[in-house]
Parts: sequence; C-alpha cells; structure tokens
Amino acid sequence: MITVEEALDKTLSHIQPMGFEKVSILDALGRVIAEDMIAPRDLPPYDNSGMDGYAVRYEDIPDASEKNPVRLEVIEDLRAGFISEKTVQKGQAIRIMTGAPIPKGADAVVPVEETERGNGFVIILKAGFPGGYIRRAGEDVKRGDRVITKGDIIRPSEIGMLASMGRSFVSVYQRPSVAVLCTGEELVDVGESLDGVKIVSSNSYTLAAQVRECGAIPIQLGIAKDQKDEIKKKILQGLRSDVFISSAGVSVGDYDFVRDVLKELGVEMIFWRVAMKPGKPVAFWMFDKKPAFSLPGNPVSSMITFEQFVRPSLLKMMGHRQIFQPVIEAVLKEEIRKEPGKKHFIRAMVSFENDGYSVTTTGPQGSGILRSMVRANGLIVIPESQEIVRAGEKVKVQLLERNF
Ligand code: AMP
Ligand code: MG
Repeated sequence: MITVEEALDKTLSHIQPMGFEKVSILDALGRVIAEDMIAPRDLPPYDNSGMDGYAVRYEDIPDASEKNPVRLEVIEDLRAGFISEKTVQKGQAIRIMTGAPIPKGADAVVPVEETERGNGFVIILKAGFPGGYIRRAGEDVKRGDRVITKGDIIRPSEIGMLASMGRSFVSVYQRPSVAVLCTGEELVDVGESLDGVKIVSSNSYTLAAQVRECGAIPIQLGIAKDQKDEIKKKILQGLRSDVFISSAGVSVGDYDFVRDVLKELGVEMIFWRVAMKPGKPVAFWMFDKKPAFSLPGNPVSSMITFEQFVRPSLLKMMGHRQIFQPVIEAVLKEEIRKEPGKKHFIRAMVSFENDGYSVTTTGPQGSGILRSMVRANGLIVIPESQEIVRAGEKVKVQLLERNF
C-alpha cells in the first residue's frame, strides 16, 4: 500500500492544466486568469482633483491661514467629466469637484472645508501644500504595468481593474466537466421509495457539491446497480467527461465490480489502496489523458478522499497555484489513540482561543457517520507511525472551510 504523499504525487504528476476560454469579465469571478494583464493606459488617465474644493496656484496662497486669509477670484465651476478651457492666472481659482481634470495653471487643490465662499470669490483659510489633493495621472497604474498575473484568481477587485483597462472579456482556464457515478444495489435517489433496505445515495450529492465548490462542472450520472453491464454502460458515459469519479464498489466485496469494469475498458490503474483512514480503498486511473477516481462508498471516506486527491487535481486543472487547503497547528483538547500504519484524518472543530488555535474531535469517527463531517471545519492529520496524541499537544489540522 502506498502512502497518502506518494498517492498524491502520483496523481498530480498525471494531471495537466486545461486549455483556455474567453469569458465576460463578470463571469470570470472566481476563475483563474490565463493571461498577464498589461495596462494599455494610465490610471487615472489624467491629473484630477482628489477633493471637492478649489484649484489654485500654490504661489498665491503659501501663507494662507485663518489669521491670514487669502482672497481669490473664482473664474469657473468645474464638474467631474468636463475639461476647463481656462487657465488659472495669478489671484484666481476654479471651483472643482472630485475627479475633475486639473485645469491649466493650477498646481494644488484646497478642500472646500478649508475655504469660505463669497460671490465670485473664495477665501482660502489654509495653505495646504504644493500639489496638494491632486491625483496624478498613472499614480494607480502606469501604462505597461503588469496589473494582473497569469494564474491569479479573479476577484471583484480584478474585475474592476479589467474594466478600468477597457476589457470586457478575459481569457481564463477552462473548467473540467466531472462525471459522478454512484454504485450500489442499496441506493436510491432522493424522493424515491426506501421500501426494503434502501438508502438515499447521499454521495451523489456530496460529491457533485464538492466538484462544484472547486469551481468545476459536476455531471450527475445517477446510480448504477452492482451489475457489471450497468456499471460499464454508465462508466462509458462518464469517460466522455474531462474527469470521471465513481463512488463505492471499489473495495474487496463480492459485488465490488468497479475495478474490474475499468480494467476491462482499458483504463490504466495508477494506484489502488492508500494507507489512510478513512478512505483506504481509493483508486486512481488514467484513461488516455483523462483522470478517473474510484472513491470508497462510505460517505465520510468518499468526501475525504475527494478532499485529498480530487480537489487538488481539479484545482490544478483549472490553473490554480494554491491547490491545497491551509494546514494550521492547533492544541488538541482531548486524547486521540490510533493504530500505527495509516495516516488518519480525524474530523474536528477548530476554534481560536486566547492566543492560538485549539481543536476538538467531532465525536464518533466511523466512516459512515456523515455528521462527523457536518460538524467539522477541519481534519486533524495524524501521521502513519503515531499511536497516541495527548491532550495539550499540538496537532496539524487541514482546514475544510474555504474562508477560515
Ligand atoms: P462499498 O464501498 O460499496 O463497500 O460501500 C460502503 C458503504 O458505503 C456501504 O455501507 C454503502 O451502503 C455506503 N454507500 C455506498 N454508496 C453510497 C452512496 N452513494 N451514498 C451513501 N452511502 C453509500
Ligand atoms: Mg457496495
């Protein structure tokens, strides 16, 4: 059996980033930009006023104060969006609004709060400083600057920057389509009859949601019974997507046919079984250039194997630089014991207390106990060889929340 690290390395070594596509800038939210954005223009494009006030010649007012007010003639009212034809001459000012271009002759703005207005004139009560309250052309962005770098995630601020640069479309990494197939004789879809001994295929939804949360496109293939023909039909359908994920039927049960079928279809097995708990029966395959994951059926196992192997793969395909969740150190509040040999992922609740993180488990850790995930915001990761961690010791916690 290989370790989680080895399995992850093997997986990622087979994963290539997708191609690019152009989308409108608003639709680019959360996507990864596939081009460097080089500014075609200065921002702001011209010197403009940072305040509502008066555009003046600083040499007229260097000593202005409440005790020594300076009177200037107001020759124009200038709004944002308009340009003045006039030049400010000695003893003159132009009333100016925030964002309006600085008129010729002026070299400072005095905010309205530091003036008193008269009829056709203004009294300046404070000198300010040369160049005061003028926002210079290019002070935000200079033409030729690289303002967004290939591989950056596009957030609202990047969208604003793209718009400022005159772009309505932008090149981003494509999102993979990810087929999700759940297998099991006992499964029915939500809303179907539970007569007999059926359970709802919750994995159909958790896995699709995990795919969507990554930013990829889930394709729900529904449920296949534990029958080779049916599994084969659905897998063939699934292999048309960019990525294929199956859940359950991958262990050593008598009706676990997923591996047999994938092999019969010529899909190459890269690994099967990883020294981890939960999630041991996970398998990874390559079908030509397409990755396929067989995840175990227990609801917690499928989620955690997705988190460890599928999520980083999908993020890599979508051009992300940061493909792993942050890992923090936290003080463990209760003792944990385990068998040596496997890496354990223990569902846990991390909180910030006093001066650092502390962490407790979410209770019973069976791989069928979905509530252990519902309650969790992190996974305590305990190394293969370790058997006991005492209360008060520090542990590594892989965060599950995306905005912790
Ligand atoms: P298996 O991997 O087929 O041995 O399944 C392991 C356990 O996971 C069994 O108890 C299944 O009933 C359960 N299980 C399998 N598939 C699903 C699913 N899609 N949703 C919820 N539980 C499942
Ligand atoms: Mg089964």
